[in-house]
Amino acid sequence: MNELTLSVRLERVAAHVPQGARLADIGSDHGYLPVALALRGVIEAGVAGEVAQTPYASAQRNVRRNGLQERITVRLADGLAAIEAQDRISAVSLCGMGGKTMCEILERGKAHLNGSERLILQPNGDERELRTWLMDNGYRIVIEELLRENRFDYEIIVAEPEGTVAYSEEELYFGPLLMREKSPAFITKWQRMLRQKQQALANFERARDAIPEGKRRTFTTQLGWINQVLA
Ligand code: SAM
Repeated sequence: MNELTLSVRLERVAAHVPQGARLADIGSDHGYLPVALALRGVIEAGVAGEVAQTPYASAQRNVRRNGLQERITVRLADGLAAIEAQDRISAVSLCGMGGKTMCEILERGKAHLNGSERLILQPNGDERELRTWLMDNGYRIVIEELLRENRFDYEIIVAEPEGTVAYSEEELYFGPLLMREKSPAFITKWQRMLRQKQQALANFERARDAIPEGKRRTFTTQLGWINQVLA
């Protein structure tokens, strides 16, 4: 992967960045996403935010190598603190981090958002927590995608600020749009999860005393949801 050839995962994220957007890519690492989108003429301008020195230096190098210093600003900053008001950001991407980390970044950095940005999120796990944060903060999920690359399932969640939204427990768990669409990738993922959870529950039963009742109940509920969604 490089700025010319993105991974399938980042390519699908890129597809949800609107033409002419001003993008802040937080946790940008080498900056491949904003650099690729600037080279393709998709984004008008971008910010690549990084909290760690080595990826920050790598993003700076890639921006310079591609002659994009005028259009992409690389900032060493924690989360959304990389965004400044004069950037006039219209889309924020957070990719390749845990869903809980993303919630923390969004929660801590709310003050840096202008309230109109599209959020393009690709969490590595804890999608339910992330959807809950979006709901609690008035974001509607407008696009969801599920893809598999290198034996990992990746979910992409695109959300826009839209006042009050309410999702059910099942929608937060599976994704409101994913569970409606039931794509082949979705069915395959949840068939795999069903097998894993059935195995885990069988293990729980064998170790009955050691497993808290609450945890067993949660598992049983989730198994019921998965059976229902696959039915
Ligand atoms: N976004 C790229 C992608 O999806 O390929 C890189 C993902 S990489 C696994 C995660 C990056 O997020 C790391 O470079 C890490 O330093 C950065 N990161 C983690 N926490 C961060 C934070 N609070 N603020 C900015 N960057 C952060």
